[in-house]
Amino acid sequence: MAHNSLFSCNFDEFKKIVTDLGLPQFRARQVWDWVFKKFVFSFDDMTNLSKKDRETLQQEFPKILPPVRKLAKAQDGTIKIVIELHDGNLVEAVAMPDEDSLTFCLSSQVGCPIGCIFCRTGVGGLTRNLTCEEILLQVMMLIRKTGQKPTNIVFMGMGEPFLNRQAVFAAIDALTDPTGLGLATRRITVSTSGVTIGIDALAKRPGEVNLAVSLHSVDNLTRTRLVPINRKYPLEKLRASIAAYCEATGRRVTFEMVLLKGINDQEVDAFNLVNFCEGLVCHINIVRFNRFPGVNLEPAGEENEREFRRILKKAGIAVTVRKSRGSDILAACGQLSGSDNEQEK
Ligand code: SAH
Ligand code: SF4
Repeated sequence: MAHNSLFSCNFDEFKKIVTDLGLPQFRARQVWDWVFKKFVFSFDDMTNLSKKDRETLQQEFPKILPPVRKLAKAQDGTIKIVIELHDGNLVEAVAMPDEDSLTFCLSSQVGCPIGCIFCRTGVGGLTRNLTCEEILLQVMMLIRKTGQKPTNIVFMGMGEPFLNRQAVFAAIDALTDPTGLGLATRRITVSTSGVTIGIDALAKRPGEVNLAVSLHSVDNLTRTRLVPINRKYPLEKLRASIAAYCEATGRRVTFEMVLLKGINDQEVDAFNLVNFCEGLVCHINIVRFNRFPGVNLEPAGEENEREFRRILKKAGIAVTVRKSRGSDILAACGQLSGSDNEQEK
């Protein structure tokens, strides 16, 4: 019986199918390498397979990639796709073109267990981790949709990447493999809510993968309210891990701050942030809060945001305000949910 796509099985199952079809078992590895290392999506292009074996596989797997379940295009060129996984779960991935870059924003989990109060992904909790192949699948689907390879990859979609380290690190290895896409590690950014064991693990890995930390507040009480995992990895511990990462890699860390009215957008918050940053090589990214249905929080007012930036700049800290990409299609940060009931554009 033909399969929906190569992604309806894992490697062991695929090996069995290959031998059941009467093909030598090493064909399975060859096909897997074409798809997951070289990002080739057609059996016809797998030149080290015999024509006969290619035809047999083509019959068994009429499609390598599954269909896009939903596609939305925003006015700013952002494209969001929803992919249905083999078990029916939905995962979202986003492509953000700019003048001379193309950034893919990837998910690492279905849902997220952290439950930040301002984030749509966290609302339903965690369903499951994604496999390495499911992370790479997002890249392949976006390449097919945009017709281009990405210049940058950010793990800022659904999920906490450092609670799925094995798959995320394996995906980074595949994306940077010189026989495949060959992306430079410094073109890849992992964003974390502050899982310090992940930061420590990243610091020990070879390469120059960038670290972004969703900080939001440098006051433990406020941060725990916003990002509940702060209870487990409080700010003192978090800062120590970040300092060790900067020391080990020589790289600058990015702090993401979603400014919320009356919660973390006051002058005192900015001054405390300056103190926290002292001695760290860092850059602050102010992220405009994207509202979503059912959440009762307000973005900081323009005046507060301006004052916040002014205090940071005056202290010599590099600060940018992140453009909200694709917010009209709920593709912007914190708006990904994996639900299927958004309007298609
Ligand atoms: N779990 C990781 C990565 C995914 S979230 C993390 O938290 O870092 C990616 C970014 O989106 C984080 O910086 C997060 O703080 C931000 N974000 C979440 N919800 C948001 C919202 N409603 N508006 C704006 N940014 C949001
Ligand atoms: Fe999870 Fe990140 Fe959303 Fe927090 S902001 S709930 S860690 S995805």
